Amino acid sequence: MKKYDVVVIGAGISGLLAALTLSKHGKKVLVLEKRQHIGGNCNSYMVDGYQVDTGVHAITHLVEGPFKMLMDNYFDYQPIFEDYGYYYIRTERTFVKVPSNLKDFVTFDVLPRKDRVLLSQTLTKAFTLSSFGIDLSNQSVYEFMPKNLSEDTYDFVDAMCRSLSGKPMKETSAQRVLYGSSFVRDSVTQEQFDAIIRKLEPNKHQSAESILASIIPYHLHASLQSRMTKIKKPFTSLERLATNDVNGSQGYPRKGLKALLNAVLYSLPESVEIKTECEVKSIFVQDGKVSGIEADEIYSSDIVIYTGFATELPRLIKDLPPEYIADLKNIVHNKSLTIWLGMEKEIPEFKYTGSEIWFKELAYWASPISNYDPSLAPKDKQLIGFTFIIDENNTEEHELKKAYDTIFRAVPKAEKYVDMQHEQITIPEKATVSIGGKFADIRTPIKNFYVAGTDTDKRSMGITRASYSIIELLKVLNEDGKLY
Ligand SMILES: Cc1cc2nc3c(=O)[nH]c(=O)nc-3n(C[C@H](O)[C@H](O)[C@H](O)COP(=O)(O)OP(=O)(O)OC[C@H]3O[C@@H](n4cnc5c(N)ncnc54)[C@H](O)[C@@H]3O)c2cc1C
Repeated sequence: MKKYDVVVIGAGISGLLAALTLSKHGKKVLVLEKRQHIGGNCNSYMVDGYQVDTGVHAITHLVEGPFKMLMDNYFDYQPIFEDYGYYYIRTERTFVKVPSNLKDFVTFDVLPRKDRVLLSQTLTKAFTLSSFGIDLSNQSVYEFMPKNLSEDTYDFVDAMCRSLSGKPMKETSAQRVLYGSSFVRDSVTQEQFDAIIRKLEPNKHQSAESILASIIPYHLHASLQSRMTKIKKPFTSLERLATNDVNGSQGYPRKGLKALLNAVLYSLPESVEIKTECEVKSIFVQDGKVSGIEADEIYSSDIVIYTGFATELPRLIKDLPPEYIADLKNIVHNKSLTIWLGMEKEIPEFKYTGSEIWFKELAYWASPISNYDPSLAPKDKQLIGFTFIIDENNTEEHELKKAYDTIFRAVPKAEKYVDMQHEQITIPEKATVSIGGKFADIRTPIKNFYVAGTDTDKRSMGITRASYSIIELLKVLNEDGKLY
């Protein structure tokens, strides 16, 4: 039986970040991935000369968030981020920036004026309650909304809820909207992070601040740099509600999402081994500890970290306590469909950087990613990704047709220039932040078996959330005396 300090199950971004951080803490790590490719939902690949990502991505909290902390302290190579740009709302008659604060909201004439006034009051109320420490996580956005608003306003709020939680407004908590839109922030403070990694070699441990200063000229687009300087100003919560700039710390990795994956891969030391097409089928437990991991052969290790769906654990491990299994059943998922369209030529409707939201009937979130980097499309062509949350009760064919109809209703001209089309059906996050939806704990009933990834942390979304989960994992391992 081959023996490692750590076996990580899953080579998505969570598994690779776990492998990177733990190897830099001196561990010999084996990563087992069932698919042929590593990266999971964080990757890019070629389709007919276009480089598509696994879903439309914006990387958030790049100034002070958990991914930045991991990059600063554990990466040998850093991805280059392009300024994300802005979020826009597209309707049949207009294309305008999404309001990110109360001031912008007043002039946002996509919605009737009366509705805007009522919604601003509601937002202020939710914010005030939250800042007094009242937990709004069990109150739905719908419950919070004034009644008798126009259909457009309900559709708009519903689309925003779906983009933040994957669920409609009746299942999205008011708390989620405040956090997801950065009105209320949760982050790991530098002190908390320092406490976790205090034993890392002193020369490897630099504060986020000092590294930021040293990388800006090379790694960040000039306009992102200027926004970052603005963002660093210590905002009070109320100032943020009045002037919030939600896009300020977001970026898109130059050369596509796979550049982010590559930065992790290039930073891995030789003490990390990765095996692909190597599905973990069973995890054996003896005396409350993992005694073996069955994949292409049986492996053993002091620590096992699982980054697949926590809901799959009862299938992999026999005799888990019934109450643990019952908890896992409360984790809620949702499905997304991304349609990538390659355009024969650059079309003026998509001449922007950032993303657009269409909120009528079937909402989408779209981004013309070749505007960040023309090399993602063949010369003079354009690549646009459209992500939808789909209804699992309908057939995929039905949802696909509805999605294409929506795109061509939103931008009729697009249909004429389609040169490539490609579809992806994925589960964007392992746990949806919905009312009553649960998350898995990092610790499990098995002593040396831990879960990491987007179903163990409800903060933020996607790669930022995966990074939070890895920082928490390090904290837990440190507390359990297993980091050294
Ligand atoms: C359409 C879409 C849009 C998104 N937009 C954004 C965005 O804008 N911003 C953002 O930050 N994030 C976004 N995300 C989310 C982000 O991509 C994911 O949260 C992140 O990539 C998840 O990483 P993970 O490692 O936790 O999970 P995964 O990527 O799912 O990786 C888990 C890996 O474990 C492997 N595995 C599972 N079980 C086993 C087993 N038994 N044996 C071996 N291997 C196993 C799987 O094959 C997989 O490779 C988006 C995702 C999608 C799909």
